[in-house]
Amino acid sequence: MYTDRTIACVDCGQEFTFTAGEQDFYAQRGFTEAPKRCPSCRSARKSQRSDAGGHGHGSGDGGSSGGYSGGGYSAGGRGSFGGSGYGGGGERRPREMFSAVCAECGKATQVPFQPTGSRPVYCSDCFQTRRG
Ligand SMILES: [Zn+2]
Ligand SMILES: [Zn+2]
Repeated sequence: MYTDRTIACVDCGQEFTFTAGEQDFYAQRGFTEAPKRCPSCRSARKSQRSDAGGHGHGSGDGGSSGGYSGGGYSAGGRGSFGGSGYGGGGERRPREMFSAVCAECGKATQVPFQPTGSRPVYCSDCFQTRRG
């Protein structure tokens, strides 16, 4: 169990309470140090900073940011994405197109899938028309 602690703010010198609940919250996030600033100084500093983006945690207390560099976050769901198509280099190969003949109007057309013969293939015009 935690007990409330009284801490003197390094900025304004005012004492503030680091409550048991906050201590628990900090401990859950791996912070080992108590905050050094009272809540009002903390929020003042936070609003001064414009880089508030990535960090989700609300401490804003620059001193205690160790241990937050996480690992464990690169479990890599990517990469296993079928392997061949996307190289992951940011450059996307154009889709492979297949020649086909429109079942509706008989025009030669290109489709992004291999026509199997089991389904009619339509040119883009007819496809649009059929979709309504
Ligand atoms: Zn303060
Ligand atoms: Zn057509």
